[in-house]
This record gives sequence, structure tokens and C-alpha cells, in this order.
Amino acid sequence: MKLTIGHLYPDLLNLYGDRGNIQCFCKRLEWRGIEAEVIPFLSGSRIDFSKLDIVLLGGGSDREQELVCQYMKEIKSDFKNYVEDNGVVLAVCGGYQLLGKYYKTDKKMIEGLEILDIYTEWEPERLIRNIILNSPLFSAPIVGFENHGGRTYIGNHTPLGKVFFGLGNTGKSGYEGVVYKNIIATYLHGPLLPKNPQVCDYLLERALKRKYGEDIKLEKLPDRLEQKANNYIVGRYSDKKYVLKETIKRYT
Ligand code: GLN
Repeated sequence: MKLTIGHLYPDLLNLYGDRGNIQCFCKRLEWRGIEAEVIPFLSGSRIDFSKLDIVLLGGGSDREQELVCQYMKEIKSDFKNYVEDNGVVLAVCGGYQLLGKYYKTDKKMIEGLEILDIYTEWEPERLIRNIILNSPLFSAPIVGFENHGGRTYIGNHTPLGKVFFGLGNTGKSGYEGVVYKNIIATYLHGPLLPKNPQVCDYLLERALKRKYGEDIKLEKLPDRLEQKANNYIVGRYSDKKYVLKETIKRYT
């Protein structure tokens, strides 16, 4: 078995170690004896989505997002078809915003891919914080770090999770990210996947199912260090003032 991972625009969209998400995909496949190929698509290069099983769209500054926006016009319909055909996508922060209709900054209107029915508007106060979510998709909390000026309004979309500690999509809604088909779109950097192996395996299983047409349950990995780190960070923030009135899940 083999999965091919497309890293979109790593020359422009790669903040706070988003590339670590790719390494995590590859390592966790390798540990299960599954081959991984990574194809970086620099801005302006042609992307053949039919060859891809997973796409990573990372975060970027407003300036970089504006540059990427020109290249995205060329891939808009192919990317949409890939998503509707259950292609797996991990979109982080700037990448999450770019899946929507637009990102309106203080200076510019950046057009998005219109794959998700969401939009983002900039506000001067940046939302910067460690963040912890409860997601119905996972039995353990998702942990990470957020740093964004944009507030994302997700309309009728399903959020990735409920904020336990931190700010999330708008800083007010109490929710974070979006899940749509096989897309996980989120503000969580850090990078997300090495901190949250449960999210990595979820996306890998989705990609394997789409490619090989059957439910493939990945063999469990020990992940003791990751679980210890997760428990530590959840414990550290459990009594802080930004905690919402919500019971947090824990690794047991
Ligand atoms: N430039 C966007 C914002 O500030 C996204 C930032 C990011 O990817 N960290 O909202």
C-alpha cells in the first residue's frame, strides 16, 4: 500500500512548523509498513489532484496568502472536485481561511477557493494562545497553538470541536475549525499532527479507505509520550480563566 501526499505551496504557506504534519503522516505510515510519497508543489506549479491521496495547505501571513490567491485561481475547480470525491485535506490557519469564500484584511479582499461556505474577517487584536478542544470525532482532546488575526464564520458547517481552553474560530463562538467530507480545517498549529496522533491516524484511515475501497484499521502505536504530553497540557490549563464551562476529555 502507498499514499501520496501533496504539500501545496510550501514556499509560501509554512508557518510554525506546519511541515511537521507531513513528517508525521510519513512516519506513522512507515511504522505500519505503508509507503509514503511527498510531492511539494511550489507556487505556480501544475497540480494533478488525481495522483494525490492527502493534501496539506498550511498557514501563512496575510501577504503570503494574497500571493497564493493568484495561483489558487488556476486550481479552484480541480481542488473542489478532489474534495467532493472525498479527497483528504488538512488545512491549517491561513490554509483554512483560503478554503472559504474570502478573507477580508484591513487592506485587502483575498478571494478564497470557495470549497467551504465560510468567510473570514480580520480584526486588529490577534488571537494568540495555546488551545484545547473537545471533538466528537476523537476520544482524547485536541491540543495546539493558535495565532490569527482573522475571525472565521462557519455558517452551517460542522465545527471540528468545542473550545475547552483558548479562542477558536471567532474568539466568541466557542467552536474551532470545520469538518467537511474528508477535510479537517483548523487554526491549530504547533504542528497539529505530532501533538495529536489520533487526528493523524483518522486522516490516514480516510485516505486509505478512499484509495483501496475498504475500511483499513491502522495498527495501534504506543504513543505514550504524546498521551503524557497531552495530559500535561490539559492539566496545566484546566483551572485557567479562559476555560469554558465544559468537561474536558482525558487520555486514560
Ligand atoms: N494571516 C492569517 C491571520 O492572521 C493566518 C495566520 C496563520 O496562518 N497563522 O489570520
